[in-house]
Amino acid sequence: MAKNPVCGMEIGDKQARQKSLYRGETYSFCSKDCKVKFESNPEKYSNVPEDDVSETRLDLYSLIETAKANGLEPYWYLKYLFENLPEAMTADEFTVLMPQKVDKNMLAGPAA
Ligand SMILES: [Zn+2]
Repeated sequence: MAKNPVCGMEIGDKQARQKSLYRGETYSFCSKDCKVKFESNPEKYSNVPEDDVSETRLDLYSLIETAKANGLEPYWYLKYLFENLPEAMTADEFTVLMPQKVDKNMLAGPAA
């Protein structure tokens, strides 16, 4: 069962005659109307709006490099990041989790 992203109707695989591929995901539609609506503005209907993807995609490799460059121990930094990332809702809350901005005193670390 796929959920029609436009009208919210549940569509069985056999009923899904109208399909559209967007950003690697297949979306199914109950009718041509719904498909046309989706394709006119896929960002609005797809699960992952394009803006969110570009803003929140974390490149783990560059994150680790940036953490090191800022004098952070990558393990403790990533632990802190992944503990707090799910709670971050606003751009500001994301920003303070970035290695350049993170409060080093907030990171746990090996016992001294
Ligand atoms: Zn529909």
